[in-house]
Amino acid sequence: MTQTAELARAVCEGDRRALARAITLVESTRADHRDDAVALLEEILPATGAATRVGISGAPGAGKSTFIETLGVHLVDAGHRVAVLAVDPSSARSGGSILGDKTRMEQLSRRAEAFIRPSPSGGTLGGVARRTREALLVCESAGFDVVLVETVGVGQSEVAVAGMVDVFVLLLAPGAGDELQGVKRGIVELADLIVVNKADGDLVDLARHTAADYGHALHLVRSSDTGAIDRVRTCSAQLGDGIDDVWEAVGALRAAMRASGELDARRTEQARTWMWSEVTETLLDDLRRDPAVRARIGMLEADVSRGLMSPAAAAREMLATFRPR
Ligand code: GDP
Repeated sequence: MTQTAELARAVCEGDRRALARAITLVESTRADHRDDAVALLEEILPATGAATRVGISGAPGAGKSTFIETLGVHLVDAGHRVAVLAVDPSSARSGGSILGDKTRMEQLSRRAEAFIRPSPSGGTLGGVARRTREALLVCESAGFDVVLVETVGVGQSEVAVAGMVDVFVLLLAPGAGDELQGVKRGIVELADLIVVNKADGDLVDLARHTAADYGHALHLVRSSDTGAIDRVRTCSAQLGDGIDDVWEAVGALRAAMRASGELDARRTEQARTWMWSEVTETLLDDLRRDPAVRARIGMLEADVSRGLMSPAAAAREMLATFRPR
């Protein structure tokens, strides 16, 4: 048995250290690790696909980590095995990451049935998303039946996360319109479920109002076979109120999607899109690593910045350097 096959077997048997090693392997940006990572993913593929995949997004401060902690503990108590992953676009720039802070999700991180992985850092958003998507498959093969993928609600990363989950949840704080929430309108359109958090104390009424407002907005932008399901909930992640209700809504949505064929269709479309983004990412990696291209990139960028060359001509020259005719 090859080393990779051995690792895949250990992951599928639930070996924790093997899981961590496998995720480190798929997260590696080293070209020579890539072959092993692809082989590993191929080995574990039959053991993937069974988990409920949920994306959780929201502006900083909406309560995402509190919500995931409360929901995660609730699910583990109910007998689930829960993996938490993250896509943080800022980690591509700063090297820091959400979930990186050890004080977050303290209770959940202590549970043996939970696995929490910070966002991979470095590289493009596409690269970060690819590594998270693959980590998701690895977690599924290791027997986690719920995978929660967290992201910050400010832009492109939502699209990436919506492209890897079954149900995409947008978490909001009470009050405020889209702009004040720091949430772009396009993201509301991506949401399968909107949860207004912090429905406690003085904020209960405001949370209900916010939920009603978004219920209306969501009704306007979403049309789907599962439209009959109420897609807005309120909860208090801090007190634990309404968390069961949110999870029931996720389950009901997913069940309705499965029954209507929408879940299969979504996953099929996701797989097709993943294949193409894999092609794009790999081509870009190869291009950036190519010695002849590397020797020209600086000059071409400088010429384009100074207006000495059009971006189109520079792109053409870079590609011609990469694959001379
Ligand atoms: P994140 O940035 O979205 O991950 O948000 P956090 O989970 O770090 O929460 C931001 C702040 O909101 C913290 O001070 C939390 O204590 C608070 N918070 C989170 N959930 C609730 C809630 O259900 N009710 C109230 N009142 N505060 C909450």
